[in-house]
Amino acid sequence: MVDRIADIWGERTPFARGEHWPVRVDQKLADGLVEADIDRWVQSACVLCSNGCACDIAVKDDQMVGIRGRAIDRVNHGRLGPKGLFGSVQGMRSRDRLTRPMVRVDGHLVETDWDTAMSRIVERSKQLLAQKGPLSHGFYTSGQLFLEEYYALAVIGKAGIGTPHMDGNTRLCTATAAAAMKESFGADGQPGSYLDIDNCDAVFLYGHNMAETQTVLWARILDRIAGPDRPFIVCVDPRDTEVARVADVHLAVRPGTNQALMNGLLRELFANGWVEESWVHEHTIGVDELRAVVDPWTPEKVAETCGVDADDVRRAARIFGESERVLSTVLQGFYQSDQATAASCQVNNMHLLRGMIGRPGAGILQMNGQPTAQNNRECGADGDLPAFRNWENPAHVSELAQLWGVDSGVIPSWAPPTHAMQIFRYVEQGSIQFLWVSATNPAVSMPQLERIRSILDQDSVFLVVQDLYLTETAQYADVVLPAAGWGEKTGTFTNVNRTVHLSDKAVDPPGDARSDLDIFLDYAARMGFTKNDGSPLLDWEGPEDAYRAWQECSRGRPCDYTGISYERLRGGSGIPWPCNDEHPEGLTRLYGDGVFATEPDYCESFGHDLLTGATVGEQAFRALEAHGRAIFKVSEYVPPHEEPSAEYPYRYTTGRTAYHFHTRTKTARSRQLNQAAPKAWVEISPTDAAALGLGEGDVVRVTSARGELVVPVRVGDIREGSVFAPFHYGYFDAAASVSSGHASAANELTVTEWDPVSKQPLFKNAAVKLEKVADADGPSDAPTTTASRPAAQGTVRATVGGHDGEASSTVDLEAWTADRAEALS
Ligand code: SF4
Repeated sequence: MVDRIADIWGERTPFARGEHWPVRVDQKLADGLVEADIDRWVQSACVLCSNGCACDIAVKDDQMVGIRGRAIDRVNHGRLGPKGLFGSVQGMRSRDRLTRPMVRVDGHLVETDWDTAMSRIVERSKQLLAQKGPLSHGFYTSGQLFLEEYYALAVIGKAGIGTPHMDGNTRLCTATAAAAMKESFGADGQPGSYLDIDNCDAVFLYGHNMAETQTVLWARILDRIAGPDRPFIVCVDPRDTEVARVADVHLAVRPGTNQALMNGLLRELFANGWVEESWVHEHTIGVDELRAVVDPWTPEKVAETCGVDADDVRRAARIFGESERVLSTVLQGFYQSDQATAASCQVNNMHLLRGMIGRPGAGILQMNGQPTAQNNRECGADGDLPAFRNWENPAHVSELAQLWGVDSGVIPSWAPPTHAMQIFRYVEQGSIQFLWVSATNPAVSMPQLERIRSILDQDSVFLVVQDLYLTETAQYADVVLPAAGWGEKTGTFTNVNRTVHLSDKAVDPPGDARSDLDIFLDYAARMGFTKNDGSPLLDWEGPEDAYRAWQECSRGRPCDYTGISYERLRGGSGIPWPCNDEHPEGLTRLYGDGVFATEPDYCESFGHDLLTGATVGEQAFRALEAHGRAIFKVSEYVPPHEEPSAEYPYRYTTGRTAYHFHTRTKTARSRQLNQAAPKAWVEISPTDAAALGLGEGDVVRVTSARGELVVPVRVGDIREGSVFAPFHYGYFDAAASVSSGHASAANELTVTEWDPVSKQPLFKNAAVKLEKVADADGPSDAPTTTASRPAAQGTVRATVGGHDGEASSTVDLEAWTADRAEALS
């Protein structure tokens, strides 16, 4: 049997352009079990990344004991990756699951019953509302709850309490995706589809290490690469990732310079006449301004700014310009970097210039990081108004007030929603005194951790934490609530390409744990939130009631769910939204008709200035007269605020490994995944290692102006002058501790700074120094696969060829890359 820890993407099932991606059903059962032992299979989808792979959960003796991919589903055609196979079930059934609520007594968390815990929460909440009003309350949630739970939370926050201080950790992973689509197209919602992989001529991956972050999606691309008519691959990433290794062009840009690269690529499209003039004229506005802004960005200027080869910029632009169908994907290398929204909008601009949107093979995937990030954004638990309504549009606010049976004035719409970094600032300053954190772990995932820890530890804030385990964050809580998780509750969620899946309850949660929806409904009832007619604000009895309420909320909006019922989702494939009378099977691609969501009365946002983040405002937006046309949003390049210096000479960037998800709350509890990547490390280039006298496994202190890490070195394939750290590692399972000077969390070093439009923090660029602390006692624990593999591992081989009907073959990657470069030039 294939070792799916070592062989992350599994066996190749090659297919040609336009063909159906072959089915391959992946399955993992607990040791010693065979299919005949399984009592029942329960339909679900994986929640360990944003790909949304459909699966069935194996149940035996009322325990989850395995998982298999669903062959029928349009997303994964039966496949699952290592996290889905080894982390889904194991991550839920560790013996240290929270099973009872806890409250803080004399400084210690002690177990209690639900009534005591909820009474404490409600007492504090009522007291603060009476004394200080709604702005005393903040909610910080997740990208891992279900749609029904986010919608309940959004109604509680907006119509029950009336606070604008609501956000999710989606602010850290996917806020820029939403922002870029609002700016360019008028509303959130992926234009493209995974099916575009099956039809494209080229895939551009911008700051997207898909090979590790969405392994099943990458398997689909590998299968196209292994088939005839393979697509060209262009990779923008400072590391030599698996994507880079099969790329026709690898642009290893200096961190913080994405906007300069994008301006240069756009200039090449103009300079070479690769512009669909008539389509641009009919369906867009602002092309002249775009041309003027990008004009100075010659390939040579890009090369100097970004540290790449000018000819590689030309080659990449040529692939885009001469292809009929390009799929672009964007992720954290852009979203968590300087000028995040600006650079991501330029990806949209590339497609708009070529009219490559809304048709098979020609798509954009502004990716999400987390499985249910899309639902957080749709439902408004991230602060936005539900169903992509515009907080600056009074008619949209009135619609919600009518739907919820409350006055418009209750719904906070007098200012933009408060983003996560500002919520924590308000806690720090003492104006937010009630913070409810659900299914996320800011004590590891937010930037500049020493500051975050001090904020969570403040006496002035009453902290509620709702999670599966006693996380690093939960240890600061006044009340800890044990939540039911995946397989222990029913609900729906929506993946990157708008495909909705149902996840049915397979087993009971452990002990007294309750679903997040139950907990929110209990809080709303105890608080006595009502509609204007005196009836309960939330009178739902379970998830399907919440879902039906959401369907009504989404009616007529871009994310229309009215045609997707629980019943339709059971048994078949997931269904993409919008799904309604007009699109009864769901719409695979948006904007195929060239009509965008920029009508002022319909759009989700009036937009922002990409450089400063200032809102455009209704009057100026109406004056644009976009009226269904897409908008070329532009920005000058500005260098990062924190540059390497004599004291801190290296650029620091963070990211993920294929074997862990977020702060490892689930994946560290999987034996196989944890063995693959058990402890933190940092990666540096062979050249820097030699200059610093460092070898593989030597222990280094990495220091920024904000903190330090002490971890082993992996000498790997990363651009010279850069240092990479995986962000997953915290302290819940670490023998060493922060106080003993052996910090290992990557965010000890990151900056408190964010993109002006999306408010997404900048995790991808900080200045650091390195010094040796101890000699190696062996290689570091970094994975020996993927982008983290040692630099001197030997000849890298790849499956290549297959363009224009030629057969594919396996060759030496270095020689092949050189050949391709020559051919392209
Ligand atoms: S690719 Fe993502 S959704 Fe699919 S099995 Fe892996 S972790 Fe789960």
